Amino acid sequence: MSQFSHQQGANDAAHEDKCRRCGIACHVAVPLDDRAIVVPGLHCRYLAEESPGIFACTVYADRFVAAPWCHHADVAGPLGYLADDCPYGTPGRGKTRVSDAEFLSLWPHIWRILRSWGVPNFVHHERFLAAMHVRTGREWELVPMLTPGDQPFASDTQQMRLRAVSTSPHD
Ligand code: SF4
Repeated sequence: MSQFSHQQGANDAAHEDKCRRCGIACHVAVPLDDRAIVVPGLHCRYLAEESPGIFACTVYADRFVAAPWCHHADVAGPLGYLADDCPYGTPGRGKTRVSDAEFLSLWPHIWRILRSWGVPNFVHHERFLAAMHVRTGREWELVPMLTPGDQPFASDTQQMRLRAVSTSPHD
């Protein structure tokens, strides 16, 4: 049992059975107008896609030890960290997964936000960078976004910024 308050909540079978395994809670979302748009490929390093659209946490039983950033669903719901239609969620709050076509139309705004805000270090670097390569035609790396109080090495929750490795598409 975790000692952190953001990791306390129900864990009985009825609670666990409500999960749809959509993986949305474990993805990063960016705010656009009044929605939080899920970024495909940008998710916790411990999330795996077992089959198209079906996700699983690879450290689920030990997640609150392996992933101190992970929130229990009971806490995550009111904070808007779950899917907007999640069975554990809070009506009117949460992340939205849009169609591929809509994501493409929103991409210029999402790209601007990702470049200025960075992403947390606990995301799956390889999967995110592979998705970025597909979307931009360029190679990227993640490097620490340092502020004066930061250590030169990146902690799990430190923000990372995207830095281009190749300068033109398809280098
Ligand atoms: S550790 Fe938490 S955020 Fe990460 S994949 Fe598992 S349940 Fe999702």
